[in-house]
Amino acid sequence: MPLPPTTPSPPELPGWTHRFSGKVRDVYAPASPHPAGDVLLLVASDRVSAYDHVLPTPVPGKGAVLTALSRWWFDRLADLVPNHLVDAPPPREVADRAVVVRALDMVPVECVARGYLSGSGTEEYRAGGAVCGVPLPAGLLEGSRLPEPVFTPATKAAVGDHDENVTFEAVVDRVGHETAEDLRRITLAVYARAAEVAEQAGILVADTKLELGRLPDGDGTLVLGDEVLTPDSSRFWPVAGWQPGRTQPSLDKQVVRDWLTSPASGWDRAGDTPPPPLPDEVVERTAAGYREVYRLLTGSDL
Ligand code: ATP
Ligand code: MG
Repeated sequence: MPLPPTTPSPPELPGWTHRFSGKVRDVYAPASPHPAGDVLLLVASDRVSAYDHVLPTPVPGKGAVLTALSRWWFDRLADLVPNHLVDAPPPREVADRAVVVRALDMVPVECVARGYLSGSGTEEYRAGGAVCGVPLPAGLLEGSRLPEPVFTPATKAAVGDHDENVTFEAVVDRVGHETAEDLRRITLAVYARAAEVAEQAGILVADTKLELGRLPDGDGTLVLGDEVLTPDSSRFWPVAGWQPGRTQPSLDKQVVRDWLTSPASGWDRAGDTPPPPLPDEVVERTAAGYREVYRLLTGSDL
């Protein structure tokens, strides 16, 4: 997906060469051999994406929240799955929003776990009573809790940037039986841990997406990469507001989505024009929302 033309260039960082940029992260490789070996630098920007567009307006502090929250979760999941963090300092200029990580060969599967029905899960369920080939009981509503959490993988579609939900069998075809089983087991274990931890903080993890990879010269062990259990990779719902049968209030980009789809934005979501800049007030409320998720989960301010 092209970034909006107004996006600032990724920062020049001494010792690092910019490799590519995703919707949110700028990825760098060492300019010369790194003492820790084959590593990358992931710098989380303040970019926001919604409805498959990167918005032209950044949300100050968002990259720092995503980075700190991922670090916090990696720590709390370390007994379940190894992660890509390397104990090496990122450059001073981006210290609060960057991590040095092992360069992984990423498994080409978006590993999604869902504990509640929402988004593309609801759409699939309404069309056929199942999500990613997993049959679900009748009578579930948008926001319903599932009888048990399910692994609902997705892959990048050939065309466009949408992820496409796929069946477990399609994952087996792509990566083999053993790896597919491992992805499912790890994803559901991480989800179970996260759901328990978050619920104590008053937050339901409706669903979350993990990315796993392998060390290029390793023994094949799966390693948790990318970001983990952030408001960008998960649906977080306040326990207090949960009420199946309607769109749930969510602790993520709700403010942005609501404004974009309100008459005030003047934006035609169905058309092919890019979304307009966000008003200051929407930016401030979104930034506060990200900080609030961090505070609720970790118990400290950023
Ligand atoms: P995606 O939907 O694939 O996450 P994105 O636009 O959200 O795309 P970003 O999160 O902005 O991507 O950028 C991070 C990129 O770095 C992703 O392509 C991710 O797969 C990749 N990545 C994360 N951790 C590692 C790692 N340890 N080794 C190699 N690549 C990684
Ligand atoms: Mg990503």
